[in-house]
Amino acid sequence: MSDDRLRMTPGPTEVPSRVRERMSEPTWNPDVESEFFEFYRVLTDKLEPVYGGDDVAILSGEGILGLEAAIASLVAEGDRVLCVSNGIYGDGFADFVETYGGEAVTCRSPSTDPLDLEAIKSTLAEGEFDVATMVHCETPTGTLNDLEPVLSLLEDHDVLSVVDAVSSLGGAPVPVDEIDVCLGASQKCFSAPPGLCVLSVSDRAWEKIESFETRSFYADLEPWRTAADEEWFPYTHATSNLFALDAAIDVILEEGVESVFDRHADAAALCRDRARELGLETYPESDELASPTVTAIHLEGRAQEVQQQVQDEHDIVLSTGLGEHEDDILRVGHMGHNARRERVERTMDAIEAVLE
Ligand SMILES: *Cc1c(COP(=O)(O)O)cnc(C)c1O
Repeated sequence: MSDDRLRMTPGPTEVPSRVRERMSEPTWNPDVESEFFEFYRVLTDKLEPVYGGDDVAILSGEGILGLEAAIASLVAEGDRVLCVSNGIYGDGFADFVETYGGEAVTCRSPSTDPLDLEAIKSTLAEGEFDVATMVHCETPTGTLNDLEPVLSLLEDHDVLSVVDAVSSLGGAPVPVDEIDVCLGASQKCFSAPPGLCVLSVSDRAWEKIESFETRSFYADLEPWRTAADEEWFPYTHATSNLFALDAAIDVILEEGVESVFDRHADAAALCRDRARELGLETYPESDELASPTVTAIHLEGRAQEVQQQVQDEHDIVLSTGLGEHEDDILRVGHMGHNARRERVERTMDAIEAVLE
């Protein structure tokens, strides 16, 4: 079956053929074949150049499982959690916190603004917090948050940090060394199929995780600290997905992580330039806040119509905004394998043709 469709959504991204082919390898039995654990250990080591330090674990489940697992495992009953947010994913952490018995205090700035450092400072000064959550790339608005000043405030107050870097990890540098739990997923900048979430955990986060009994079984991170060494996973792992992720990481490492980041920055700059040439506004206004992995284009009241036409007439799949912005934002993903000039050009040509 031929498939010429170009999928330029901010995840899932296109999976290169080499990665897809790895999925057709014979499936191992991870409970019986100990080679599987060696493979898993090598894979988590390989992820380190992308992640930069800390222990890495790979869970079988979509990215959302990682967000839930981080909260289920780090937030004990009655813990106070500071949810720093300027978007939908940032807000969503508060729901997980409350589900697991924590008290969420949200520090919210508008979607078009950076994280509000002054508000974070005064909230931290007003009361004790155990954990703080934030999002690196707010995918729905294409905003890349500057995390370092927030992380250093948290460090001063001895608060554990949880960062959703699902849509930036592997496409942009993430200050993982300063983050206690950093969350990624296979289907975004890694350009592997959906089905795995990848997370790094600091020593002090492991200590907190081991200090109390979580209410969850499937989302409990505790067994993952020793899983590879003790050769016991809490459930049968998704072997074919792991093979694919392994091939996807090889693709990234062969190109070189720096070159991969440059390619994303270049694709993003081109995408914004082309949008501006068409007289369109992009989110956020300042280039400094614009994500290298996804561009959000303002198309008041016609984003869905343009998305549909681009798909029907040009065979290119795009995303719209989420929630209240569903019909106001058109999103072009340039993540992983799709972060290439020619793909962005082809996409922007199609948008241009539809708008004319
Ligand atoms: C894609 C994404 C996730 C994963 O969840 P979905 O089920 O794909 O929505 C989590 N966080 C962010 C910021 C994402 O972009």
